[in-house]
Amino acid sequence: MTAQAAENREHAVVIGLEVHVQLETSTKIFCNCSTTAVDDEEPNTRTCPVCLGLPGALPVLNEGAVEAAVKIGKALSADIPERTTFHRKNYYYPDLPKNFQLTQYDAPICQQGSLEISVEGQRREIGITRAHLEEDPGSLQHEGGSIDTADYSLINYNRAGTPLVEIVTEPDFRSPQETRAFLAKLEGVLEYLGVFEATRDGSLRVDANISLVEAEDVDEDGSISDDVLADANRTEVKNISSHKGAEKALAYEVTRQKNAVRRGRVIETETRHWDESRGITVSMRSKESEADYRYFREADLPPLEVAHWKDEISIPELPDARRERFQSEYGLDSESASKLTSTKAVADFFEAVAESFDADLAATWVADNLLGELNYRDMAITDVEDRLDEFERLIELVDSDQVTTKNAEEIVLREMLDEGDDPATIIDREGLGKADEGEIEGFVSEAIEENPDAVEDYHNGEGGALNFLVGQVMQKSQGSADPGSVNELLRAELAE
Ligand code: ADP
Ligand code: MG
Ligand code: ZN
Repeated sequence: MTAQAAENREHAVVIGLEVHVQLETSTKIFCNCSTTAVDDEEPNTRTCPVCLGLPGALPVLNEGAVEAAVKIGKALSADIPERTTFHRKNYYYPDLPKNFQLTQYDAPICQQGSLEISVEGQRREIGITRAHLEEDPGSLQHEGGSIDTADYSLINYNRAGTPLVEIVTEPDFRSPQETRAFLAKLEGVLEYLGVFEATRDGSLRVDANISLVEAEDVDEDGSISDDVLADANRTEVKNISSHKGAEKALAYEVTRQKNAVRRGRVIETETRHWDESRGITVSMRSKESEADYRYFREADLPPLEVAHWKDEISIPELPDARRERFQSEYGLDSESASKLTSTKAVADFFEAVAESFDADLAATWVADNLLGELNYRDMAITDVEDRLDEFERLIELVDSDQVTTKNAEEIVLREMLDEGDDPATIIDREGLGKADEGEIEGFVSEAIEENPDAVEDYHNGEGGALNFLVGQVMQKSQGSADPGSVNELLRAELAE
């Protein structure tokens, strides 16, 4: 047994996540400042007395943020309470102009949910402790170095007040790999709900809590008692901004903690910073406890009666359900169904195509051809959504034998994406209209007449000769003939 394997027997890894999601609302959570493309704006231009924390400015809750949080709660099968309240979380930090963050404390908007993940074919249910609404702080820009080496730091309050939902999981993860699967799954759900923009920088930020517990404290069914979890010394790793980052930071932290234990050291309960470029975690500070924050009720925001919102707000079919339906309704294999439900936009596009064509044909064209070409060009389905009818016309031209599949895939589709033209124009311009049978028969006779040597080779049983002749005919037809039928026509003609 290796030292690593021995170590795995002695300790189980326990991880819980706190995931901060920026909500896609057009304005901030407590004021009217715009949230669109704030990162491209001049620093400190998207601000007002409320999000700058000026004395006397009063917050007004953004209805859109509450709606988004309710949608997330429904998607995570969480309870939405009768009423939800806001608290001040007091701490001093330069990116927090009020010296407190408006957040939720003992009555968060979502409580006790779950999300199922699957890792290497194993299904696991991850408990969601809570999800609450809060405001994003501003952002710091460290000049001339990183957080611990910079000469000075600049503050930009454009981000301050962007609505966040913080989703807190139970300590249910048993490996870094599971956290990555969870984050990918969660991101898919959020994207389907339309509450979140994955491509926005910093739209999903993760704090990961991690501890080791004695293997003997893990029950048969994998559960660990609350006492053991509470007693375990854990580190909280901050500054993780991607799924891969979470897996890497946690893998590093597992090794670091196991090594420390092996050397007889105690794991300190502390907050650590994930240094993405160096691939390590570094100690930041001893972990603050809840009492440090002096939570108290925000008197400027009344309690919100929220229970009825759950019935009034509907959510779309979510990725898992849609994937399963694609398999049963369209007879797709699980790989195509996964590809075609990877984002809501892709799934919607496919279903639109599948209304006009056979599901298999639609799946091949969307999943294999279109997504492949888009991916190659670093484009997304959203870049071509409004060209659905052109794309359907292309499939129609293939389906009605007016252009060969090969030309449609390799020339027409590519030029559609590169030049922005419609398929008919491209087929015309490139002379790709499929030749009719008579024309091809003519090319076959020509090829035979012009290449007596190849014909002789063919009769002498040389395998390459037929391919050569097929190539000649294809060239004459400028690719508009179907190689399979050319092959057959040649054999027939040569047999006479
Ligand atoms: P705090 O108030 O200190 O942040 P919480 O009880 O709110 O603590 O838990 C924060 C996160 O820590 C949650 O995601 C939870 O799952 C996780 N957590 C709790 N106990 C452990 C543990 N023993 N090991 C790893 N993570 C844990
Ligand atoms: Mg915490
Ligand atoms: Zn503002």
